[in-house]
Amino acid sequence: MAKNTKYIFVTGGVLSSLGKGLASAAIGMLLESRGLSVTIQKLDPYINVDPGTMNPFQHGEVYVTDDGAETDLDLGHYERFTNAKLGKNNNFTTGKIYDQVITKERKGEYLGGTVQVIPHITDEIKQSICLVSDDADVVIVEIGGTIGDIESLPFLEAIRQFRADAGPSNVVYIHLTLVPYIKTACEVKTKPTQHSVKELRSIGIQPDILLCRTERYLSQEIKAKIALFCNVDADAVFTAKDVDCIYEVPLVYNQEGLGDKILKKLNIWARAPRLEEWKEVVERLKNPRFEVNIAIVGKYVDLTESYKSLNEALAHGGAANDAKVHLQYVDSTMLTEDNVVEVLSKSDGVLVPGGFGNRGIEGKIIAVKYAREHKVPFFGICLGMQMAVIEIARHVLGLEEANSQEFDPHTPDPVIYLMKEWYDERTRQIERRDEDSDKGGTMRLGAYPCELEPDTFAMKAYKEEKISERHRHRFEFNNAYKDRLVNEADLVISGTSPDHELVEIVELKDHPWYLGCQFHPEFKSKPGKPHPLFRDFIKASMKNARK
Ligand code: GLN
Repeated sequence: MAKNTKYIFVTGGVLSSLGKGLASAAIGMLLESRGLSVTIQKLDPYINVDPGTMNPFQHGEVYVTDDGAETDLDLGHYERFTNAKLGKNNNFTTGKIYDQVITKERKGEYLGGTVQVIPHITDEIKQSICLVSDDADVVIVEIGGTIGDIESLPFLEAIRQFRADAGPSNVVYIHLTLVPYIKTACEVKTKPTQHSVKELRSIGIQPDILLCRTERYLSQEIKAKIALFCNVDADAVFTAKDVDCIYEVPLVYNQEGLGDKILKKLNIWARAPRLEEWKEVVERLKNPRFEVNIAIVGKYVDLTESYKSLNEALAHGGAANDAKVHLQYVDSTMLTEDNVVEVLSKSDGVLVPGGFGNRGIEGKIIAVKYAREHKVPFFGICLGMQMAVIEIARHVLGLEEANSQEFDPHTPDPVIYLMKEWYDERTRQIERRDEDSDKGGTMRLGAYPCELEPDTFAMKAYKEEKISERHRHRFEFNNAYKDRLVNEADLVISGTSPDHELVEIVELKDHPWYLGCQFHPEFKSKPGKPHPLFRDFIKASMKNARK
């Protein structure tokens, strides 16, 4: 355990989706605004080793860190709200913890002892928390799931023990609950909170601070009642009021005095919070002067959770142009040559996001063709870039059966293909993959360097030659088609790996804004630092709207 490190454990009660991830991120932001350094870790109770292979419908977006970890989407909130550098140690699941314990057991590291939840699993959890302890003044640990779930018990037992290990003044337990407003009674109800805290106390954790999600501010009277029944300080019950814009959350917490209370409990002295810049960003996000309509043509269009970072990056790009971004989710399985003009002409720009599997692929190609031919700003991300290359190969080069090997392994023209061998800048060695490699084990994952060409949309946006962006894909641009695409179809290759072997960005010149990138720029956009590609895509779309 690192010396002087302080720990905040965030648990959730009553029901899921209360926004523990956002609460943890907002607490991190508030502490940073006082000059403290923070890191945030998520402990997830499910048994998957990581969320990499989980269906976005069920689990929402898979977030990727610089070091190539496939993590829970809450890490996206953490990075958007704070400057914490996150990596594989910032997300542990029950599956990963058990996997590590079983590996040790097989190696004989427990010397023949009986391996049990307490102490072996709980020790492993505590060690995982300590792995990020050196990174910051304050470590915030969010426990996934809801109090009362069977799955989260080992994590809760581990954090219960943690206070004794780290010392009571170094640990704070924050519990997020719901205080519903019952219309028929015209009252807010505290009983669910009381029960949730009772459950938490029955496993040995007395929360220090309660964050109550409500529709309206709680009166002093209600707060006093909750404090009494839940055995917390009278000034340790805070209203976590619903807000219009998620970036307002830390401002509401600050107004309520949450930052001061946390510092007092942890016995830390820090300066007053500096929130001016953040307030300006929130103002810009909430009250823009202009509007723009963007079509997202994808597969998981029903669930905004599947495109969490993308939606946020678009909002940031909008704010950078003083514009509110209205999203039109278009299910690509519904798109045809006959309806594409009618469906997409309502939007000022077309975005095809990342994705896996062949459902809806042809519809995406129709959308890219529409954007190319009608000179509508186009942004293709990962799979979206691959679709753009296939579309151009088919309709400009006339290679009618051009495809990605992902969707047609026997296509005569695999313009997107499984690259068997390449030099990996991250591992600094030759990497290999083939059709039989493990699902999940063979992707190009995490941050890779990319070099940009002058006089391109990419260079105009980034304004630097060398950039780094995060990847999550198996298939690549096939260099065998490079010359024809460039010479006969006017494709511009504006970004490549430093050895020029991997094509990372493609563009079209004779177009107001057309760019496809093999990486996921949405993972690096922040409210105060909008991503340059999203900023420029929105700008071009606004120009298109005014035409
Ligand atoms: N399915 C494609 C690939 O694996 C694209 C992945 C993505 O969009 N993230 O290459």
